Amino acid sequence: MYDLPLLISFLWMGTAGILASQNRAEDTKLASQAGNDSSANHKPAKETIWASSLARAALLSLPFIGFWALEISQAPPEVRQFRILVTLGAVLPLGSLAFLRHELLDRERLRLLRASQESIDNLKRLQMQFVQSEKLASIGQLVGGAAHEINNPLTAILGYSELLAEDLSLGEKTRGLAEKIREQARRTKTLVNNLLSFARQVPSEQRSPVDINTIVNTSAQFRRFDLRGKNIRIEVQTGAGVPEVRADMNQLLQVFSNIINNAVYAMQEAGGGTLTVRTLFEKGNVVILFSDTGPGLRDPRLVFDPFYTTKPVGKGTGLGLSICYGLIQDQGGQISCYNRPEGGATFRIELPAVPSAFPFSPRSVVSPSRNNPAKIA
Ligand code: ADP
Repeated sequence: MYDLPLLISFLWMGTAGILASQNRAEDTKLASQAGNDSSANHKPAKETIWASSLARAALLSLPFIGFWALEISQAPPEVRQFRILVTLGAVLPLGSLAFLRHELLDRERLRLLRASQESIDNLKRLQMQFVQSEKLASIGQLVGGAAHEINNPLTAILGYSELLAEDLSLGEKTRGLAEKIREQARRTKTLVNNLLSFARQVPSEQRSPVDINTIVNTSAQFRRFDLRGKNIRIEVQTGAGVPEVRADMNQLLQVFSNIINNAVYAMQEAGGGTLTVRTLFEKGNVVILFSDTGPGLRDPRLVFDPFYTTKPVGKGTGLGLSICYGLIQDQGGQISCYNRPEGGATFRIELPAVPSAFPFSPRSVVSPSRNNPAKIA
């Protein structure tokens, strides 16, 4: 008679396993239907609680059954011995099942923990992008209006000072003064142009597929001319098979030159160094990395803010990288910067590659149209 409930219980254990796997499939389906609705009330199913309580009770009952068979039962010694053996034998599968369950639960918890950490990181990044974009947009509006107003009288000052400076009927001293006015007016005009391009009121040229490696090489070449004797090197490591990007070539040249100029300035202050420019293809984006061996960024969170500069008066306006930020944003890309642990600053630009230009290899068929990239600072 003892064998009958034993057999039923073993059969039930098997059935419970099958039912559990079916429940799990249903749970997964429900979870995917609920999507990301965090307000959904995920209460554990009643059956799950019952099943785990029964399993725990079964495991805990084993020593009692063993003790009963050994000390209390009046059955013949062979039967008692058989029962003890069965009880001991049951410890192994039940114990292993309990361990397995714990292991699976641990893994699931770890996976959920990682997923929620990732969500929090994404949320923080989005928040930063939003704040940065809003800040730039509102300052851009203000600055754009003011720059427009200044531009008109400035053009007149520049024009009249040019007339005076070239008027030979005037004395040498007067023409000298006119020349000085013209120089200052030109400087102001450059600043106003910077302000206008920061406010993005300078229309962008036609976009077309461009080769990033060529633009990187050209920007580096421009700057190499006046680096002789300055103990500063610019190394370009272009990645093979980097696809084209759809962009305005002149704007990219402006961005790259600005980053290179900043790096050269920083390394010059430190007595020399090397700027390494690398291009590579990663997850459907063309990535350009500018890493210098200078002193690093004083505050990486502020470098894209308009008018943030650590350069002395007259040397920097603090608009260069804010303009770059806007330009890269316009091209559908993202720009970020950080200090490397070993020293020096790195600027990273990501631009979406032209889909048709992806190199045809299985590895490159990864998320070509990544949802429009985050524009982060
Ligand atoms: P500006 O060059 O007129 O100061 P930018 O917007 O181009 O304006 O740069 C803002 C600031 O970012 C710089 O003043 C400097 O403090 C910092 N910066 C940019 N690039 C680097 C770099 N490679 N190393 C250290 N600091 C840098």
